[in-house]
Amino acid sequence: MATGSRDAPAITGVVLAGGLARRMQDGGSDIDKGLVAFRGRAMVAHVLERLAPQVDRLLINANRNQGEYRRFGHAVVGDAIAGYAGPLAGLHAGLQAAATEWVVTVPCDSPFFPHDLVARLLQAAQDDGADLAVARTGEQPHPVFALVRRTLLPDLEQFLASGQRKIDRWYAPLHTVTVDFPDPAAFSNINTPDELAAFERPDAPFRIPLPLAEALPLAEVERRTEGFDRRALPVAAARVIMERFIAPIDSPEPVELPQCLDRVLARDIVSPIDVPAHDNSAMDGYAVRGADLDPQAPTRLVVVGTAFAGRPFDGALAPGQALRVMTGAVMPTGADTVVIQEVVRSEAIEDPAAAQAVIIPPGQEIGQNRRHRGEDLAKGKPALRAGKRLTAADIGLAASLGIGALPLQRRLKVAFFSTGDELLSLGDVPAPGKVYDSNRHTIRAMLTRLGVEPIDMGVVPDRREALHAAMLEAGRVADAVVSSGGVSVGEADFTREVMAQVGEVSFWTIAMRPGRPMAFGRVGNAYYFGLPGNPVAVMVTFYFFVRGALERLMGAAATTPATMRVRSRSAVRKRPGRTEYQRAILGRGEDGIVEASVTGSQGSGVLRSMSEADCMMVLGHDQGSVAVGDWVEVIPFHGLL
Ligand code: AMP
Ligand code: MG
Repeated sequence: MATGSRDAPAITGVVLAGGLARRMQDGGSDIDKGLVAFRGRAMVAHVLERLAPQVDRLLINANRNQGEYRRFGHAVVGDAIAGYAGPLAGLHAGLQAAATEWVVTVPCDSPFFPHDLVARLLQAAQDDGADLAVARTGEQPHPVFALVRRTLLPDLEQFLASGQRKIDRWYAPLHTVTVDFPDPAAFSNINTPDELAAFERPDAPFRIPLPLAEALPLAEVERRTEGFDRRALPVAAARVIMERFIAPIDSPEPVELPQCLDRVLARDIVSPIDVPAHDNSAMDGYAVRGADLDPQAPTRLVVVGTAFAGRPFDGALAPGQALRVMTGAVMPTGADTVVIQEVVRSEAIEDPAAAQAVIIPPGQEIGQNRRHRGEDLAKGKPALRAGKRLTAADIGLAASLGIGALPLQRRLKVAFFSTGDELLSLGDVPAPGKVYDSNRHTIRAMLTRLGVEPIDMGVVPDRREALHAAMLEAGRVADAVVSSGGVSVGEADFTREVMAQVGEVSFWTIAMRPGRPMAFGRVGNAYYFGLPGNPVAVMVTFYFFVRGALERLMGAAATTPATMRVRSRSAVRKRPGRTEYQRAILGRGEDGIVEASVTGSQGSGVLRSMSEADCMMVLGHDQGSVAVGDWVEVIPFHGLL
């Protein structure tokens, strides 16, 4: 927590969600402000998330929908006095329920308050020996952002018992300090549907209302994930946590077909037409009336004309007639069957109106070689599903329906940077102990491959203030942040402190090789992925965690990675209890079966072996050593890295 040292007084954060929110009422519907969807989560989830790192425990003051509020994983307390008596009633309930020396209140509709709110209020209260610290920006007080010593409870009870309700009236005679914060916007609150809409800018990253169960703080998601162990986290459990924690964006924009490849479809596309639009011939041949054909003997029909694809025959087929048809030609009225030209014998005739007659052999099936209207896709049926990452086939399908632009999710913005004092950027002169920063370039390339907009934030030195500033900036401008380095055991302490100040970030040791240490969470509006520093570990953790997580964030439906089972040409020593990723090269054995051989050095700093490999051999968590000739699973790199 931001209050730092171990003997800091314990603080309970009370989120005030007990009001009636009259101004949020929308056409008579009963809206609970804390539960309104804002940027993809309940409003109160944003507030809880921001407050959690600043306090020791959290409480929610709510008088309605208490069951819903409980799903965020914290105690919920109602007012002890009746009549929706306002913030003081919430503070009163909080003071009663809290067992800590201090209680801090924040309203449930102010999701942007400062990350150092509590630390600064506490500092000021302690410096001044005050019982109460209240935030202000310049002349403007923010009385509901208050830190209150619990010993004030009897005083508050007396005040309320006298029938008074006004918060500043209660404050007036107390020993109070006010603390000036620089940014009034940080104290914005959202009271009306219009204000809500204004904050939901079209480029705001999170807009899907989620089931509330998914809007949990990260620590709660971890706690509820089976197999969670931050010191030996199975790969599968880490993936589950990311999936549960990440709320997909939903901000569709229309995009013309030529720009659609690889992007994510935001809405189902319903076919506006039948495909094909008419019954038509599947072959070159003769369209006939099935009822005319003699099943036992050849049938002679008069050919009355020709239909081409795109040039239909005007008129109907009368009994005894046939129409010459090309593949794709509209079936003439009356015809239900096509006889392929190869089996038909033609015969010149005298009739000047008809070019020829044809002899159809017996044994035709009624209805054969005819494509039915709407058989590929009926009008009104979904042609493409939301969440699809669009392929060449999908784009062709859209065009076949006459659709020239598709509603796609906007591209994600992903900021990335490298950390480390040893890093040189391109163009720098080599120096002893220094290495060129390769990770930033690898990461940019992988992000580009994924179709997101990369934002290069450069190299961040191993300094607290520098990391702090970089994280705040990244969390402001991006939907996700990827960093490399600084999460290994030796360095994590310092990164950990910074992260606790700027967001909600968890540090894990993953049961995998390469790439054990990793950080995950949220900073500002962005999800955060702290990858290890070793260049190969960066690629492996990106591919096996970040890629899928970003796909989820961009609104893409989950897909199964294309794996192959191949024969191993190498013996690999492995112990169960962690997932191992071996760089490997595919080839064929003498019997034609596909085989994989692991590349020379598997050290996690050896980028060259990654460059030589064309697949990753994945040895599962519970698997043991591999002998030459064993079957193993590989994931080909083609198109992925
Ligand atoms: P770290 O995780 O920061 O302790 O880094 C682990 C190893 O990876 C060290 O040998 C670093 O020098 C190296 N490393 C870290 N970041 C980069 C980078 N951006 N490019 C190349 N090597 C790096
Ligand atoms: Mg480092």
